[in-house]
Amino acid sequence: MDELRSKLFYEQKNGYDLIDTAERIDAENYCRAYMRFLNECRIEREAVDFAIELAKEQGFVEYRPGMALKAGDKVYQSNRGKALTLAVIGKKPLSEGAVIAGAHVDSPRLDLKQSPLSESEELAFFKTHYYGGIKKYQWVTIPLELHGVVALRSGETVKVTLGRDADEPKFVITDLLPHLGQDQMRKTMAEGITGEGLRLLIGSAPYADEGKDRVKLAILSLLNDLYGMTEEDFLSAELCAVPAFDVCEIGLDRSMIGGYGQDDRVCAFAELQAILDVEAPERTCVCLLCDKEQIGSEGVTGMQSAAFDTFMKDLCESQNVPLRRCYEKSFCVSADVTAAYDPLYPEAFEKGNSSRLNYGIGLSKYTGSRGKSGTSDASAELVAYLRRVFAEKKVVWQMAELGKVDQGGGGTIAKFMAKRNIDTIDAGVPVLSMHAPFEVTAKLDCYMTYKGVLAVYEDK
Ligand code: MN
Repeated sequence: MDELRSKLFYEQKNGYDLIDTAERIDAENYCRAYMRFLNECRIEREAVDFAIELAKEQGFVEYRPGMALKAGDKVYQSNRGKALTLAVIGKKPLSEGAVIAGAHVDSPRLDLKQSPLSESEELAFFKTHYYGGIKKYQWVTIPLELHGVVALRSGETVKVTLGRDADEPKFVITDLLPHLGQDQMRKTMAEGITGEGLRLLIGSAPYADEGKDRVKLAILSLLNDLYGMTEEDFLSAELCAVPAFDVCEIGLDRSMIGGYGQDDRVCAFAELQAILDVEAPERTCVCLLCDKEQIGSEGVTGMQSAAFDTFMKDLCESQNVPLRRCYEKSFCVSADVTAAYDPLYPEAFEKGNSSRLNYGIGLSKYTGSRGKSGTSDASAELVAYLRRVFAEKKVVWQMAELGKVDQGGGGTIAKFMAKRNIDTIDAGVPVLSMHAPFEVTAKLDCYMTYKGVLAVYEDK
């Protein structure tokens, strides 16, 4: 019976029972590089800058339309500094399709409003409008830092990073003390902290003069010294507050990683490292670092934009291949994180189909919500294909459904790739506390996601 059982049952194993010491060391080294990336890149623009710098070191050059390309050539194209496409030209023509991996580099955050500065009772604040799906109560009483750009009327764009360095000041949103929180504590968690209530405390010292709004004046004077800006310049600024926690190891065994923005920079780094490491691929490999996934892949830098099609069409035209012929033979891994089973909240998950920490890259045949609404639902054949590739390359993997039926759900860029007639499947790292200011992943899964994407890139 034991023999029959092991032959017929599908039993998953913890990844630590499947890898040897050498691979554990590889995973450690990989995660060290990932943690550095995560620590430095807090917004999509910074992730794109970081990736371009790394790619250039590895021989990638900026793509120019009309450029002659041969097998092995490495190119990249930035979409307005917020999204990035990297490609390694394959030996086979693009009529055989491309192998695409797409992850997003935008994460939930608090965007400053266009007119953000206010003074109330001699304290200065920044008003915000949150970006992406957040639980608002998680964003109060934690240190926050500022990132983004200010586009001046002169045409100059000034980059802002304030609070990332240890000796730089941080910002915070206050909460009511428990002593006076009786009314607040009776509200639901959705109502306890409001969107308009997410205001950053940014200053308290008045300008040494008489008149009104002296704290605001003092703050503007400081901003003017730092960035040469006036209050009007906020109108054409893109600034946001993100958690100021440093990325760190989690657990006595150091087996996990804690940090902000792992959704989805954990998969973005996996893809980036994979495309940097792929050698002379058979089919053209494409790595996408996408923007605006958190708000439905909208906008000119989101995956619904024609920017990707234009880039792919350029590549195809250099080989006299119609774009549609390339797309119909292409394969895309939509590399996005999934919810890891959390024993603290068992009621939200269905154990048998949830991904777990340390069980490897999580494959989601479908995402969506309420009867799979809004998913691209990859075909059985596509899942079988990945089973084969992962088995050949010894990638530890698992199936991953996001939570219980009718508990909620989510989406990724997958459906926008599928809409282009590209076979697409979701796969990525399981995350605890997803979309929180501080998310947790397992090192083994981070490494296996890199290994999984590389296996797909290298497949014949
Ligand atoms: Mn995501």
